[in-house]
Amino acid sequence: MLNLSRRDFVVSAGLAAALGLNTRLVVGPAYAQKTPDPPKGFVTYKVGSAEVTAIYDGIWEKPHDPAFISNASVDDVKAAMVKAGLPADFVSIPFTVVVVKTGGKTILCDSGTGGQVQPTAGKLMDNMKAAGIDPTKIDAILISHFHPDHIFGLMEKDTNKPVFGNVEIIVSDVEYKFWTDPAVIERLPEARRGLARRIQAVFPTWKNIRQVTGEPEVAPGIRFVNAPGHTPGHRAFHLSSGSSQLMISNDTAYVPALVVANPGWRGVYDQDGATAETSRRALLDRVIADKMMICGYHFPFPGAGTIAKDGSGYALTVMKA
Ligand SMILES: [Zn+2]
Repeated sequence: MLNLSRRDFVVSAGLAAALGLNTRLVVGPAYAQKTPDPPKGFVTYKVGSAEVTAIYDGIWEKPHDPAFISNASVDDVKAAMVKAGLPADFVSIPFTVVVVKTGGKTILCDSGTGGQVQPTAGKLMDNMKAAGIDPTKIDAILISHFHPDHIFGLMEKDTNKPVFGNVEIIVSDVEYKFWTDPAVIERLPEARRGLARRIQAVFPTWKNIRQVTGEPEVAPGIRFVNAPGHTPGHRAFHLSSGSSQLMISNDTAYVPALVVANPGWRGVYDQDGATAETSRRALLDRVIADKMMICGYHFPFPGAGTIAKDGSGYALTVMKA
């Protein structure tokens, strides 16, 4: 069921339309998405003179799993979802890609799921075109880390052909070296080995990947920010324009209902939980101290908002879609 392709979905949706039915009733259990898609799949806002467009790729409604947060129970997780105004019966994990137009350049921040992670995601390209952004006019792609939901949009399904063959892809050297080291495969948990194998089969053959060290400026007004822990080379992106700043936090605070509210919660998705927590607190404290906006790849769409201290944790206020 999970191998249904996008084409199957299109056929089902087309049939549904022909029958005058709501597609959600027809597409079967794998597509029984409970969260409605946003009314519009993109939202544009300004950060100084930079134009930022949040583009919706889809959502993963993750079933509860006692191992998901090692130091919180499923009941704690459900209560945190409800407190954030979200359904309790699954963990809402939307995917939102950001495009920044700044200094005459169009910069894509991460690449979406490529329709290869969850059957309920893979809408990036359609929504990007709806936003008036031509995928062939992207000047550079910044990659936060090499998890599937952030890099599979770079590769065609089955063939691994590059989707953006002529665009410079800028990555952390730490992240690149970690995943392309042949010895890493045995050190990884079983569930991550296929990912490492795919990366090792593809990225070294591409000529358009540039590795950068530390926190350089990688596009006009955009710098990498070290935020390791989620993966060894995980990076946030800091955009500044005039007196305005946006912290594109990527997966530093992952699902904010859980780890912004409870920064000490340790998720299985963080490869090094203690380092991830240190990075998370440092980044959120910086966002508050410098009064900047923040957005996150898995924040509720459109994913941009502000952070404040809230007891022993933090509170996120997200702009309306
Ligand atoms: Zn992610």
